[in-house]
Amino acid sequence: MADDWNMPKGDLMKGKRGIVMGVANQNSIAWGISSQLAAQGAEIAFTYQGENLERRVRPLVESIGMDTMISADVTDDASMDAAFAAIKAKWGRIDFLVHSIAFAGKEELQGSMVANTTREGFRRAMDISVYSFIDCARRASELMTEGGSIICMTYLGAERTVPSYNVMGVAKAALEASTRYAARDLGPQGIRVNAISAGAMRTLSLAGIKGGKSLMGTGRQWSLLKEDTSMEGVAGCALYLLSPLGRSIAGEVIHVDAGFHVVGVPDAAEEE
Ligand code: NAD
Repeated sequence: MADDWNMPKGDLMKGKRGIVMGVANQNSIAWGISSQLAAQGAEIAFTYQGENLERRVRPLVESIGMDTMISADVTDDASMDAAFAAIKAKWGRIDFLVHSIAFAGKEELQGSMVANTTREGFRRAMDISVYSFIDCARRASELMTEGGSIICMTYLGAERTVPSYNVMGVAKAALEASTRYAARDLGPQGIRVNAISAGAMRTLSLAGIKGGKSLMGTGRQWSLLKEDTSMEGVAGCALYLLSPLGRSIAGEVIHVDAGFHVVGVPDAAEEE
């Protein structure tokens, strides 16, 4: 997917090093962002969740001439300690972090939020999708000794109800609040923290949501641009936020969803 667009090449990220967390395959949003950052000269360390994903992620990483891959499960402190220690040992300091990680069980991502959210399911969704961001922001900020930029990925389900999104909408609301608080805490160190609210995109995560595909169809039909959210747009926004172009932007949630989020009432069908 990341190859489908005419990716702007240049030097916007030249000399900048950072971490991308959340590449699972070539459709991952983290992969689209990585491809764009690499095309602008960034050096990237990739973290992946467990050995099973390594086989899928390694060829992608090598295809853009990178080789730093570190296993990191965000629910496991020892694994996170080891991952950030490895990056510190390799580079000493970093300039950016991309957090593109979320999880909720299939059983939670369907039907009634009230009926289907268990205590354990809630805890897991919040731990992986929200606490991990706070934890990563803390760890990354310790390595951002000359300032930096941190982004995470969110969705409209944080602000409005979306069928089946359920506990993940609750988690995304917490993630957006965490973005603002982290931006407040880290701003004085010259670290900008922002979130991108992407429209529905065809990834593994979307497949876990019951009726996920119809979220894309609705987006196409109702959005101002009458089109799917593009990887090009999301990766371009990430580049903007992570590069010097995004200077003075902090604590922001930027929607990259073809204008879907501003629609209150969709266009009426033509009258007979
Ligand atoms: P994806 O499945 O490709 O990426 C999700 C990533 O989370 C995977 O790489 C997975 O390995 C990682 N992950 C899950 N649990 C983990 C753990 N315990 N430790 C480490 N990593 C873990 O799907 P995606 O759509 O690219 O999702 C990336 C981000 O974008 C998520 O935050 C998602 O909520 C958000 N987002 C997705 C859409 C969409 O429609 N696809 C829209 C808006 C926001």
